[in-house]
Amino acid sequence: MSRKTADAVIVGGGIIGAAVGYHLAKAGFKVTLLEKKFPCAGSTGRCIGGIRAQFSHELTIKVMLLSIKLFQNFKEEVGDDIEWYAGGYLFLAFDEERKRSFLKAIEIQRQCGLDVAFVSADECARIVPGLNTEGLIGGAWCPTDGQANPFKVTFGYLKRMRDLGSKVYTETEVVGININKGRVVSVVTNRGDEFFAPVVLNAAGPWASEVGRMAGVSVPVTPDRHEALVTEAVERCLDPMLVDYRSDGCYFLQHYGTGHIIGCYTPVPLVPGYRLDSSDEFITEMPRRMIRLLPKLSSVKVLRQWAGSYEMSPDGNPICGRTSIEGYFVAAGMSGHGFMFGPAIGKLMAEMITTGKSTIDLSEFRLDRSFTKSEAMR
Ligand SMILES: Cc1cc2nc3c(=O)[nH]c(=O)nc-3n(C[C@H](O)[C@H](O)[C@H](O)COP(=O)(O)OP(=O)(O)OC[C@H]3O[C@@H](n4cnc5c(N)ncnc54)[C@H](O)[C@@H]3O)c2cc1C
Repeated sequence: MSRKTADAVIVGGGIIGAAVGYHLAKAGFKVTLLEKKFPCAGSTGRCIGGIRAQFSHELTIKVMLLSIKLFQNFKEEVGDDIEWYAGGYLFLAFDEERKRSFLKAIEIQRQCGLDVAFVSADECARIVPGLNTEGLIGGAWCPTDGQANPFKVTFGYLKRMRDLGSKVYTETEVVGININKGRVVSVVTNRGDEFFAPVVLNAAGPWASEVGRMAGVSVPVTPDRHEALVTEAVERCLDPMLVDYRSDGCYFLQHYGTGHIIGCYTPVPLVPGYRLDSSDEFITEMPRRMIRLLPKLSSVKVLRQWAGSYEMSPDGNPICGRTSIEGYFVAAGMSGHGFMFGPAIGKLMAEMITTGKSTIDLSEFRLDRSFTKSEAMR
C-alpha cells in the first residue's frame, strides 16, 4: 500500500468536488481529488444545465446570486468559456395556489435583490412566442437566470486546480475512511493507496450516504431517477428555461448556441434508487408535454434520452458543512440543483475549510439540522 499526503482529500469528481477543489487550490491547499470513474460520471454529466436564483429560501437565493456572479465571471477567473447565457427562467402558474406560492417566493427574492416579477399570461407569450396560454394565469419571470455547460464548468475547475499544483485521480474509488480519536486521518482506495490528510470532503453526490457511512457519519441523501432528452438542433425559438410544475408538467430550455432543446420532468410517483435506465413512458410523455406548452415543437425530432439521479436531502436543500468527525466535511444532497449551486458552494465550502467560516453563513444547511423547512421551488 502506498502512502501519500495532501492538505485535503475530496471524494467525488462532479461539479461540487471540482468547485471546492479549485477554490481550495486557489487558497494554497494541495488538494487530492479522488473519483471512482471519471469527472462528470455521476449526476453532473447528466444534468440539463439550468441556473436560477428563483427559490423560496433566503439562504438558497443568496447562494444562487453568488453562483450566478461566479458563472458570469468564470472566463475571467478560471479561463474557460462555459457557454453561460442569461436567457432567464419562466415558471408557469396554471392555478391560484401556484400563483400564491410564486408571489410568496417573489417577495423574499426581491428582498434579496433579485430582478423578478409575476407577469400576465400575455406577457409570458411575449417572452416565449408561440406559448400555449390555455389555462395559464401568468408566470414568475426572472431575466437574469440562465444556462451553462456542466462539462465545461467542471473540467474548467479541474484543469485550473491541476495547474495550481493539486492532483486528480480517476478510476480511483474511496473504499474506507480512517478515524482516530474523533478526527479524520486518511482515506483508502480500491487501488490500495492510503491518502493522509487533515481534511476530507464528502462530495459524492448520490453516493454521499455510502461515503458518509465509511466515516460512521449518517448523511441522509437518497437518489431518485430523473430522465432527460435532447432534440435535434432547431432555429432559435425559446430564450428562457420554461418550467411547468403541474403533476404532468415538464421543464426545458434551448441551448442558445447550438439550438438543441434539452429537458426533463419529475416523475409522479418518484422512482427511488440509483438507476440509469431509460423508460418508454418518458420518451412518450416528455414530447407530449413539451408540445402541449409549445405547439411549434411538434415537428422537432428527439435525438437521445438518458437518466441520472437527483441526490435528494429530506427537505430538498443542500447539506453542507462540518460533521461530528473533526476534519470530515460534507457538501452533498444538492437535491437536483447541484450544477447551479456548484460555483458558490465551492467558494463557500473552501472558505469554511480554510478559515473556519464562510462569507455567506451556511449553517442552515448543516448536517445536524431538523430538515423541516421544505423548498417550495424544487
Ligand atoms: C436529468 C437531470 C437534470 C438535471 N438538471 C439540472 C439543472 O438544470 N440544473 C442544476 O443545477 N442541476 C441539475 N441536475 C442536478 C445536478 O446534476 C446535480 O445536483 C449535481 O450534478 C450534483 O453534483 P455532485 O458533484 O454533488 O454529484 P455528482 O456529479 O454525482 O458527483 C459525485 C461523484 O462522486 C463520485 N463518487 C461516488 N462515490 C465515490 C467513491 N467512493 N470514491 C470516489 N468517487 C466517488 C461519482 O462517481 C461522481 O462522479 C440535474 C440532474 C439530472 C439527473
